[in-house]
Amino acid sequence: MTVDLTSVFNNDGFSLPFDYEFSMSDYFSADEENPFSLIHAKGKIFNRTGIVYLSAQSEFTLTTACDRCASDIVRSMTVPSEHILVIGNEDEAENEPDYDDNRLYIPSYQLNLDDLLAEDIWLSMPVTILCSDDCKGICPSCGTNLNEETCSGKKAVDPRLEALAKLLEQ
Ligand SMILES: [Zn+2]
Ligand SMILES: [Zn+2]
Repeated sequence: MTVDLTSVFNNDGFSLPFDYEFSMSDYFSADEENPFSLIHAKGKIFNRTGIVYLSAQSEFTLTTACDRCASDIVRSMTVPSEHILVIGNEDEAENEPDYDDNRLYIPSYQLNLDDLLAEDIWLSMPVTILCSDDCKGICPSCGTNLNEETCSGKKAVDPRLEALAKLLEQ
């Protein structure tokens, strides 16, 4: 959704509330799976004493696989977005003495809100997602999901550690 911020920037006290849904599918190529449900974004952009703030929350469910055992995970998440918005070019502003990197530079009064919120969602994603903090993962030698049953085969050796052990022997 594109929002016109002309009134917000030009009027102290003005507030522009929003409550809408958008899809993350535009940020994935056709052969990639979009793990995000529709994003429910709720918040406001407002001017307080001449400073323009954005305050929002994005709610969605993420459907993915555990990075350790590959079991399905469906997780409800809420990502906050809190920014001070200024009109300008960040590359130019970086050279100014009063540069403040807490501000978010936008090129014009026409703001693509989906892009802004989607970026905050990306940045908040954990590097690894586990079904539980103590997920035992999969046995590397027999493939058993060790959360469901114990391994019946011989003691598993991590192939990377085995290679390292061989190197150290030489
Ligand atoms: Zn797991
Ligand atoms: Zn095993």
